[in-house]
Amino acid sequence: MRTIEHWIGGKHVAGGDGRLGDVYDPAVGKPQAQVHLASPVEVDLAVRAAKDASEAWGQSSVTARTRVMFAFRELLARHELDLAKIITAEHGKTVDDARGEVIRGREVVEFATGIGSLLKGAYSDQVSAGVDSFSFRQPLGVVAGITPFNFPIMVPLWMHPVAIACGNTFVLKPSERDPGVSDLVAQLYAEAGLPDGVFNVVHGDKVAVDAILDHPDIAAVSFVGSTPIARYVHDRGSKSAKRVQALGGAKNHAVVMPDADLDFAADHLVAAGYGSAGQRCMAISAVVAVGAAGDTLVDKVRERTEAVKVGPGSEQGSEMGPVVTAAAQERVLGYIDAGEAAGAAVVVDGRGLTVDDHDGGFFVGPTLLDQVTPDMTVYTDEIFGPVLMVLRVPTLDAAIELVNANPFGNGTAVFTSSGEVARTFQRRVTVGMIGVNVPVPVPMAFHSFGGWKDSIFGDHHIHGPEGVRFYTQAKVVTSRWPHVSEESLAQLNFPTAQ
Ligand code: NAD
Repeated sequence: MRTIEHWIGGKHVAGGDGRLGDVYDPAVGKPQAQVHLASPVEVDLAVRAAKDASEAWGQSSVTARTRVMFAFRELLARHELDLAKIITAEHGKTVDDARGEVIRGREVVEFATGIGSLLKGAYSDQVSAGVDSFSFRQPLGVVAGITPFNFPIMVPLWMHPVAIACGNTFVLKPSERDPGVSDLVAQLYAEAGLPDGVFNVVHGDKVAVDAILDHPDIAAVSFVGSTPIARYVHDRGSKSAKRVQALGGAKNHAVVMPDADLDFAADHLVAAGYGSAGQRCMAISAVVAVGAAGDTLVDKVRERTEAVKVGPGSEQGSEMGPVVTAAAQERVLGYIDAGEAAGAAVVVDGRGLTVDDHDGGFFVGPTLLDQVTPDMTVYTDEIFGPVLMVLRVPTLDAAIELVNANPFGNGTAVFTSSGEVARTFQRRVTVGMIGVNVPVPVPMAFHSFGGWKDSIFGDHHIHGPEGVRFYTQAKVVTSRWPHVSEESLAQLNFPTAQ
């Protein structure tokens, strides 16, 4: 069976203590590869490689770094399908969906090619007699990224192009569920001319994560994953005096007003709820039907849900693939059972779905629940599967109250034909990313991505301008070039401008 090794200092390195993890093909439910799981020894090796490369890379010109990003961008474009196929094989999403994440990730590289403008400092002339002052930002040194299974290329790409373009070196710990694509990314960086040691990949689980969080030579950690682990990573990383940005889980609501185009809304709710089998941090999970929208909307969503084509992600015509693991399948099915037992109406039932010739695959059919109430576990917990639920409320105020009472605050959307409703919604919801008739409002690379409340720990959103700030530290220089005969004017009082 194929084994996936770490990438350290520009070459493959096998694991130290021999621990291996299975990498499944979720469409058939069988292991297809094994991944080396790092011990603290391999993590230290990667950090040392990154530290050794850091001095020269941090001193390299902005132009040199930008050139690598341009070349890397071209290689990502050329290998778009290769990258997507690896993702499909290990994650299970359809190839077209995987291509989408390659493209959205590549957009961050395009953003990073403009790093010269983004790192420009500010200059103040003559802040005192003969004194000028200017500020600029410098890299932190070695930084690390820990990423989830659901976007195995895009989420890491939210991090490393920005960090590296800013002059840092990087250690990536991707998800052990679908680690394969990171290996090709490392090779494409090398082909683009990135010096050895600037980008390293260590595969692993909690052991590797803890070694990263405790390592004294790592200055900052970016994390994306579930809320309990995000909270843990933030706490532990902060204790060892690192900068930490930790993005957590989500429960995204779409509020549908009676004045919305309900066909348009239903199309988009089904796409946003079941795309990638609901395994997107920006997936719509809870549909909040306001007033008279309810019954008609449920009918329209039901029709479309029943028409979703479920099958292996690699097969032409599949619109939705399996979930990632047997444990995920079991968890999602358990939530549907619990919702039904608590009184939710199962309008479309995805339990018991079988896919021809793929009996062992981790499939769950798209499921639609109605009459869900805020006390049910299907609502309180992040399910992370193809389950859309409908809650009914009488007014926009009640809908906003429901969204705001939820501890997660990643994404939300409103469907309406009223500008006034949209404006009220966007100003009052306590959520970081908002769509108006846009169900999956993932910001472009030149904005930053991030939620509020339990969907983030740390004060920086990811990529975009916030990413540049996260991966750099500020310097302010106050300078004077006195004429040789000039009187010094030095005195023991605190200096003030002359
Ligand atoms: P996860 O939290 O299980 O894993 C994320 C990373 O943490 C992985 O690299 C994993 O190896 C590591 N990890 C897992 N358990 C750990 C532990 N006990 N100690 C230390 N490290 C550990 O998340 P996942 O299942 O891979 O991904 C799905 C989750 O990620 C969902 O909750 C989803 O909402 C979230 N997510 C959030 C965003 C966002 O931008 N907010 C984006 C994508 C995914």
